[in-house]
Amino acid sequence: MNKVKLDHYKKILDLKLTELLADAEKTVSGMNRSDEEHFADPGDRALRETDRNFTLRVKDRERKLVAKVKEAIERIDDGTYGECEECGEPISEKRLEARPVTTSCIECKTEEEETEKQRGQL
Ligand SMILES: [Zn+2]
Repeated sequence: MNKVKLDHYKKILDLKLTELLADAEKTVSGMNRSDEEHFADPGDRALRETDRNFTLRVKDRERKLVAKVKEAIERIDDGTYGECEECGEPISEKRLEARPVTTSCIECKTEEEETEKQRGQL
């Protein structure tokens, strides 16, 4: 993949990462605010922990996405971005545009899904 295209995807991924981190920050400051509100009451504190666990669980998915975006940026830096992890063939640009963090080409992905489907039927 040429440098112009790599820069293009890097820009998309950087933006995505900034968005995700900004969201994460919002949640963290939200948690801090409720900490202050409920600080005095030990009963409320237990409830607050439950809320917090829920928030952290939701955040877990977001953290994984952040990790994926970071990995994609690393692949741009080391020059392997846009190559399928399975077969080493270039991933189509249409697919990268739709899903810039993807690591496998549509053929390998389809095959994987077929295998999963078949496994499900057994
Ligand atoms: Zn492939």
